[in-house]
Amino acid sequence: MTRTILVSSEGKYGITDGMNALCASASALDVVEAAIRPVEVAPECRSVGLGGWPNLIGEAELDASIMDGTTLHSGSVGALVGYKHPISVARQVMERLPHVLLVGAGAARFAAEIGAEPGPAGTEEPARRGWEAWLADHVPPDVRARWPDVPLIPWARLTADPETAKGTTIALVKDAADRIASGVSTCGWAYKYPGRLGDSPIIGAGIYADSRYGAAGCTGMGELTIRCGTARAVVLYMKLGLSVETACREAIADLRAAERRFRGGVTVHAIDAAGHPCVMAIGRAADTVRWYYWTEGMTAWEERQAVVEAW
Ligand code: ASP
Repeated sequence: MTRTILVSSEGKYGITDGMNALCASASALDVVEAAIRPVEVAPECRSVGLGGWPNLIGEAELDASIMDGTTLHSGSVGALVGYKHPISVARQVMERLPHVLLVGAGAARFAAEIGAEPGPAGTEEPARRGWEAWLADHVPPDVRARWPDVPLIPWARLTADPETAKGTTIALVKDAADRIASGVSTCGWAYKYPGRLGDSPIIGAGIYADSRYGAAGCTGMGELTIRCGTARAVVLYMKLGLSVETACREAIADLRAAERRFRGGVTVHAIDAAGHPCVMAIGRAADTVRWYYWTEGMTAWEERQAVVEAW
């Protein structure tokens, strides 16, 4: 019965709300939502919500998911356009549909049906200005003049992670009834090909929770963690008896084995069934990756630094 909340770097905008909800006896699922919603509308945040980096054609396509570690029920949305709180839409997918994952137009239709809070149609400033500057730097004027009615394939290789040590917001929560839940929300990589889904809406890749063993969530290069099923792998390694730290190290070894050449960093966040935390990164500069944690017995939440492994 050790209430615990762990959030990733961008989670600093929501951990106080999450911690307060946890202290007020909210369920793990409610705490996940309470911790992520403020991040989705934090004006400073460029990697989550409608203020996040857009895709190649200037649209903020958002991904989010939530998982109940006690029932293994989960809900996700991918490439959702025009809504402020993808995490809440994902929760409603879990609770109101016989499905796990909705994408694109179907996800937006569902958001409208449930009365989800709409946001501006396009990416908000200053991410929009950043995208325009990026276009001006990378795309010749004759191509830009026809943008976005041009073949986009050649430009997709310029997709970027401008936030590097920041990124997707993750919340891993254990409540007073020992229920564990996890949730993530992100705009994904900047200047991605339209329709690209990262790992965040993929249960088992960017997120997993099983109240018997723990929970995990990933930030960084989603293409790699999808291939390795990283969040699920961390929880399975804990099921096999490894400590949370050794489980993260094994999952990182899997990433290294899959991709010998560095293409983008990954940070793995995890708690075990007792709420013990570990955050471990690969392909990040040392001392740059922050995360935030509170567990019973602490008077306030703390900022901590991730363990960084070499590629
Ligand atoms: N993992 C996210 C994605 O691939 C991005 C990030 O966390 O930086 O969409």
